[in-house]
Amino acid sequence: MAKDEIYTIPVNDGFNEDCECAFCAMQQKLEQEMLDFVLSPSYMEEDVRGETNAKGFCRTHMEQLYRRENSLGVALIMQSQFDHQRKYVMDLAKNGGSVKKGGLFSKKQTEADPIRTYIETQPHKCYVCDRTQATLERYFGAFFILWKKDESFRSKVLGSKAFCLVHFLQLIQAADQHLSAKEAASFKEQIIKLQEANDDRIAEDINWFTLKFDYRYQKEPWKNSKDAVPRTIQKVNGQIVSK
Ligand SMILES: [Zn+2]
Ligand SMILES: [Zn+2]
Repeated sequence: MAKDEIYTIPVNDGFNEDCECAFCAMQQKLEQEMLDFVLSPSYMEEDVRGETNAKGFCRTHMEQLYRRENSLGVALIMQSQFDHQRKYVMDLAKNGGSVKKGGLFSKKQTEADPIRTYIETQPHKCYVCDRTQATLERYFGAFFILWKKDESFRSKVLGSKAFCLVHFLQLIQAADQHLSAKEAASFKEQIIKLQEANDDRIAEDINWFTLKFDYRYQKEPWKNSKDAVPRTIQKVNGQIVSK
């Protein structure tokens, strides 16, 4: 069994949903499962705690974690994270981010300034984002297992509303990894055609939405554009906002 085979079920299910990008829907589901896990008893394990202590959570996932009704769970996570991070930050502050050990020509001297690294990278680090991306990579593998062997899956994909811009490119890139050169060329041709048709559809919908604010079009029907804004947000940002 290929290593990504076990993920063919969620991937196949993902394409049953009517949305602007099946991978966004799968990603959202994975993120929710990851948040459940973080608040579950197994999260109390030392090694997992260690990982989230250092990485922390991005703003989106911190907010979602906080909104879950589990005050004690969140309190324990934050207690542990704060304890870890405050020591690290204080160490940087007191030592000026300079390297304590090693001479002038030691390897560490050439490494990036740790204070600057912390300021620039810490707000973007996220345990949930990283774990989700790692699983999503496997989902792309499963996608191509299905694409190669399952005719009904192929028609489901080609009948879908295509992808958000990031997942579209991720799919194009993954094709080279999972298909032969000949298969990849044919795949890309079909997927690009699908994406272009759906990008045109979205462009038309958002355009009509803006025109509806013009008095000349006020009495015209909304057509398909009532929810054009959240759907365009998803295509551009890969973000599912509630309608
Ligand atoms: Zn997407
Ligand atoms: Zn995140």
